[in-house]
Amino acid sequence: MTDTTEAWTARILTLFPEMFPGPLGQSLAGKALEKGIWRLETLQIRDFACDRHRTVDDTPFGGGAGMVMRPDVVDAALAAATADGLGPAIYLTPRGRLLSQGLVEELAAGPGMVLVCGRYEGLDERVIEARQLIEVSLGDFVLSGGEPAALALIDACVRLLPGVMGAEETLDEESFKTGLLEYPHYTRPAEWNERKVPEVLMSGHHEKIRAWRQTQAEEVTRSRRPDLWDAYKKRGA
Ligand code: SAM
Repeated sequence: MTDTTEAWTARILTLFPEMFPGPLGQSLAGKALEKGIWRLETLQIRDFACDRHRTVDDTPFGGGAGMVMRPDVVDAALAAATADGLGPAIYLTPRGRLLSQGLVEELAAGPGMVLVCGRYEGLDERVIEARQLIEVSLGDFVLSGGEPAALALIDACVRLLPGVMGAEETLDEESFKTGLLEYPHYTRPAEWNERKVPEVLMSGHHEKIRAWRQTQAEEVTRSRRPDLWDAYKKRGA
C-alpha cells in the first residue's frame, strides 16, 4: 500500500478500472497527476470475489429486477483499500447527500478518499452500514454506475489542491465560494455580433467594477437559485 502522507490520494473501488484516469489524465488534473501532486489508485472489486467465477453480484432478496453487489465481496475490497488508514470511505449513490462545494473543500483538505463505485442496483445495505460509508450523490438523476460520479468528485477536489491551479486567486470568486453564483465574464472583441461588453468593465474603475460584479452575482443567484439566495441572505442577516 502507498504512503498516503506523500500526496492527496483518490483510491477507487470499481468493476471498471480502465475508466480511470480518463478525463483526469488531461489538462490541469492530468499535469498535476504527472507531477505527483495527487495519486490515483484503482482496485478491481472482482479481485475480491471468493468463487472461481469471480462473482460480485446476486439477485435481490424479496425479488424484483436487477442484481445487487454482494456485501462480502465489497467488504473485502474495502478492507484492503482502507488498511493504511486512508479515508473517508465514500459510496457514490443517488440516495446520498448532495455533493456540495463545502464537502469538496473538506475532502481536498484531507489526505484523500476511498470511493466505491456501484453498478447494477447498487450495494447490499449491510456493507454500507458495517463500513459506515458516507453516501454522496452527484445530483437527482440516475447514472449507470458510480464511475462518472467519482471522476466528477475527484476533479472538483484536485483543482483545489495547492499547486494545481495557475493563479490561486481565481478560486476566490468562483460560484459557491461566496455563497453566490458567479457574475458573467467577457473578453475580446469588445463588440461581437452587435453585442457590446458592459461599459463599466472597460472603465478601469476597480471599485465600480467590483460593485457591478457583486450586483450581477446577486441578481443571477436570486433569479436562478432561490435556495442559494435565501441561504446567502440568512448568512448576511
Ligand atoms: N438502484 C439505484 C437507485 O435507484 O437509487 C440506482 C443504481 S445505478 C443504476 C448504479 C450505480 O450508479 C449506483 O450504485 C451508484 O454507485 C451510481 N450512481 C447512479 N446515480 C448516481 C448519482 N446520482 N450520484 C452518484 N452515484 C450514482
